[in-house]
Amino acid sequence: MKWSFRIFTIAGTEVRVHVTFFLLLLFIAGHGLMSGQGMAVALESMLFIGVLFTCVLLHEFGHVLAARGYGIRTPDITLLPIGGVARLERMPRKPSQELVVAICGPLVNVAIAAAIYLIFGISAVIDPAYDFGKTGNFFEKLMVWNVIMVVFNMIPAFPMDGGRVLRALLAMFLDYGKATRWAAALGQGIAMLLAISMLLNKVAFHPLLLLIAFFIFMAAGQEAASVTQQEATRDLRVKDAMLTDFRSLPPHATLRDGVTLLLAGAQQDFPVLDTHGGMQGMLTRHDLISALAENGPAHPVIDVMRRCPDATQPAIDLTQALDALGASDCPALPVIDPLSGELVGLLTAENIGETLMVRAALMKMRAAA
Ligand SMILES: [Zn+2]
Repeated sequence: MKWSFRIFTIAGTEVRVHVTFFLLLLFIAGHGLMSGQGMAVALESMLFIGVLFTCVLLHEFGHVLAARGYGIRTPDITLLPIGGVARLERMPRKPSQELVVAICGPLVNVAIAAAIYLIFGISAVIDPAYDFGKTGNFFEKLMVWNVIMVVFNMIPAFPMDGGRVLRALLAMFLDYGKATRWAAALGQGIAMLLAISMLLNKVAFHPLLLLIAFFIFMAAGQEAASVTQQEATRDLRVKDAMLTDFRSLPPHATLRDGVTLLLAGAQQDFPVLDTHGGMQGMLTRHDLISALAENGPAHPVIDVMRRCPDATQPAIDLTQALDALGASDCPALPVIDPLSGELVGLLTAENIGETLMVRAALMKMRAAA
């Protein structure tokens, strides 16, 4: 994550802190001092935040250790003012494993709260609206905040742990894609309900709460979309979706040759190949048209083409190639045979779309049969 730096590394997991986290500490200290409560209160508030975020870190390590039990590494954890983010190498696809990984975070907070309760007990009725500026029983506050963390994280909505727990439970009975879409829809419903009841004054309006509702809504939709795409392209390889019937240009071609090919068929982007079939670059329709206006039809194609350094191979997973295509500034990803080094196909968004449409139609037919 940008604007974050490493503080230490434990067991192969880097612990990073985002700069905005220090702004939060400064804000808390400043708030304590400005409100005239003195240095002691300000320091206690900062200490409290520090200890609270240690609890957040322990929560994240709950996920990390559970994932490690399944052989999944976690390169880093980043602490943000809103909490921690553990970047797992991948999420386990087995529902029972995802359930364990998701639940081991909140379980840590349950354990901390229970330990404080057993050691210190509760002195008075707990008021959840603790003011950070007020002094109070330090451990009592810490216990309350650990309970809040559990409740907040177990909201059954992505990207909260509760959303993953729900998906894992659903995925035991439904297929993974459907389970994700149902869990995401419920998360979005909860977020909408929260926002609407705040706007109707059924729940006390708080801008932070509204922001959280918005954040949940977006994240739930994103998770559903990414899983839907993964489902659609699962088991497909580049060779299943690549364009194999394409025209190409020799290295000495001019823009006039490019125009001839463009007008002759539906292909829009043309690979430029050397005499051995090796890929030199790609002439896109956009570049062809703008160069034509500027330099005229006799201009060499080789001056105008893009280099397209990102290529893929026929046996690569389509999901992976799709990410590469999205990141590339070429509209088509060249597919190179790893043995001969020759260009054997072009991977375009349009062709992938058609492949997926065909696949969906075939699946529908099989389901109906
Ligand atoms: Zn968590």
